[in-house]
Amino acid sequence: MEVAGLIVAAGRGRRLGDDLPKQYQSLGSGTVLGQAIRAMLAHPGVTRLLVVIHPGDRTLYKRTVADIADPRLTPPVTGAGTRSGSVLRGLEALAADPPAQVLIHDAARPFLAPAVIDAVLAALAQADGAVPALPVVDALWRGEDGRAIAPVPRAGLWRAQTPQGFRFEAILAAHRAHGADAAADDAEVACAAGLDVNLVPGDESGFKITDAADLARARKREQAMDVRTGQGFDVHAFGPGDAVTLCGVQVPHDRGLAGHSDADVAMHAITDAIFGALAEGDIGTWFPPSDPAWKGAASEIFLRKAVERAGARGFRITHIDCTLICERPKIGPHAEAMRAAIARITGIAMERVSVKATTSERLGFTGREEGIAALATATLVQA
Ligand code: MG
Repeated sequence: MEVAGLIVAAGRGRRLGDDLPKQYQSLGSGTVLGQAIRAMLAHPGVTRLLVVIHPGDRTLYKRTVADIADPRLTPPVTGAGTRSGSVLRGLEALAADPPAQVLIHDAARPFLAPAVIDAVLAALAQADGAVPALPVVDALWRGEDGRAIAPVPRAGLWRAQTPQGFRFEAILAAHRAHGADAAADDAEVACAAGLDVNLVPGDESGFKITDAADLARARKREQAMDVRTGQGFDVHAFGPGDAVTLCGVQVPHDRGLAGHSDADVAMHAITDAIFGALAEGDIGTWFPPSDPAWKGAASEIFLRKAVERAGARGFRITHIDCTLICERPKIGPHAEAMRAAIARITGIAMERVSVKATTSERLGFTGREEGIAALATATLVQA
């Protein structure tokens, strides 16, 4: 079944105190509209997506979708002076290759619960249209000049959200009949045309951004969700020497570790875990092994760079867990010193740094004592 998404982003809403329309305000690593587009494309039932934009916003739109490579997102069309006029233009554009159903969504609602789309699409099996809605739970009052005049019964009242779903031909005909006159939403246009529209359960996450407080709420929500985990893995072979450096701590041993830098296999794994969480490559990306500058270098330099990159990207490192795999030397007696060293270099509390070790039961290269392997994970949260 062809289901088109149609996002209406042609409004000029500028109640947020600067010149930027609200759908282009920053949110997470993109914009409010970008988030809405991603949320719609995240639903596998949506087979194509069209956005209606203001003719003056082409550059803003281009920037917003620059990192969205999904082929289901088709080139935008420009809207009209009213919301219903803009929806009509979008529907007319889709009509060239009509889908069976259409989900019409407000650009200012960046969060979209997949279950809401499921409910809307399921309802279209029985009805021409479906509107996600939440019951009104607060008492309603009619007021005048700041005075309470009379309560309004709230029984049977619902707060409508989007996306509102419709059988395509039915809503196209309804909007053509309605024209560009103002309407609160598409359900109003549909009901005016005599279509049957069902109410399905909405979700509080589908709130609309209308003022600065809403935008702050959206940003907080987005931030709370940007928690990243990166992994790192490294191996160094034993070579001649009388000590190995692990997590910045010199541990006496009858051999050393071979490598271009100080061969601190554990610190390399931790560094790569942080670069992994940032999706910024690995140690080799930042410190090419071909560069003689890093010969014999203390691996602290690499870890400090990863920490610096995390900070520059607005991330806080909240946890590091490192596992060393070797038969010898024994790690246990040095684990606390290693935790302290990593905590010092990364600038985080020692209780957020874990260093532990295991043997590989004499199996494999670590079991044969040919080298040491290290695994690490790092958790980063947008600060
Ligand atoms: Mg290494």
